[in-house]
Formats: sequence, structure tokens, C-alpha cells
Amino acid sequence: MVLMITYDKMEEEALKRNIPVMQKEGILFLIEQLHKRQAKSCLEIGSAIGYSALMMTSNVENLHVETIELNEERYQEAVKNITQYHYQDQIDIYLDDALTFDCTRLKHKPYDCLFIDAAKAQYQKFFEKYVPYVNKNGIIIVDNLDFHGMIFDIEHIKNRNTKQLVKKIKRFKDWIFNHDDYEVEYYHIGDGICIIKRK
Ligand code: SAH
Ligand code: MG
Repeated sequence: MVLMITYDKMEEEALKRNIPVMQKEGILFLIEQLHKRQAKSCLEIGSAIGYSALMMTSNVENLHVETIELNEERYQEAVKNITQYHYQDQIDIYLDDALTFDCTRLKHKPYDCLFIDAAKAQYQKFFEKYVPYVNKNGIIIVDNLDFHGMIFDIEHIKNRNTKQLVKKIKRFKDWIFNHDDYEVEYYHIGDGICIIKRK
């Protein structure tokens, strides 16, 4: 797939400042999935500075994105970026903790896609809270399931906090892969992405 619009400068700047925006491969994959399903709406958990939201809306026709960001500074920067590129009509961004966010505020539910890209230790909570707002035939995409490959060798992780975090990601992975109601496809793309669908 050829991308029509990219935000290379924004991506580069974000990476320089350690803002974990999606890797190019990963965002391409996400956009491809949205295309394939002719998605009209996506709910994103974790906006950071709006990079992925802009990439999605710029490259998927008639897509509406709603996105939630906890960090005020990043939220402000995202608003600035979204405004600068004139995507205010296609992107709604909320400054809030997605875990306590009031879902009655959501405008485009149910969504064709739920994209989870926020605090990794909370993936199951995000999933359980927002999956009721996904269309019956919609998809849930989760990023960063490999944690830089560490997930495959947890016992050798030295840093205690990192180890705890990776264990939590592993727990989510095991939980979702063994869930009776969902089927999961795993892709070794970017930092590990999976697509979850209702059975
Ligand atoms: N999707 C973005 C990257 C998101 S990085 C992109 O690819 O461009 C993850 C973001 O999730 C961070 O900015 C972090 O502040 C945010 N986050 C973490 N926990 C959150 C929560 N509970 N609710 C909302 N946002 C959260
Ligand atoms: Mg990510």
C-alpha cells in the first residue's frame, strides 16, 4: 500500500523526544486494516501528540477518529497538530484518563475499530471497558505486544519494573488468546500487533 500523506517530521520529532508513536510498519498495517474493512470510525486509546490519529484520518477516506489522552502536555500538542492540519472535523480528542472516562461522551459509537495504544499494564481494563462500543463485526487492534521482544524471554529481564510490566502484557496476551468469545490474529509487525474479533 502506498501512503498518500505522511507526517515524517512529526514522527521524527516524537521519537527524538521519546514519545512512543507507532512505528511506520505498524501504522501502515493499521491503515491497511481500516481500508480493508472500509472503516468509518475508530476509537483510539492513547493519542500522544496526534500522530496516529492524523495518519489514519489522512489516509482512510471518510474515517472519523475519537481519541483519548491522559497527559495534558501531549493533549495540547495533539490539538495543535490536528488544528494545524485542519482535521478538527474528523478527529475528536479528549483529555482524560481512559480508565475513568465517561463513555456517554463518545459520539460515534459503535466503532468499526478500537485501537488500544496506551498504558501497557492496563490493556485488559481498556479492552473490557471499550469492547462494548465496538460494532458486532468490528475489530480491536492492540499495539506493543512484544515489548521489544522481551516478552519471549521474561526470566532474563533484569530490571524489576520492566519485568513486572512485561509479565502484565504476557498476562493480557494469554487471557485474550484463550478467551472463548474472541479470536486473535497475531502479527510480528512493529512491536507486535494483534487483531481481535468476536467469534
Ligand atoms: N497512538 C499514538 C501513541 C500513543 S503513546 C501514536 O501512535 O501516535 C501512549 C499514550 O497513551 C501516551 O501519550 C500516554 O500518555 C497515554 N496514556 C497512558 N495511559 C492512559 C490512560 N489511562 N488514558 C489515556 N491515555 C493514556
Ligand atoms: Mg504503541
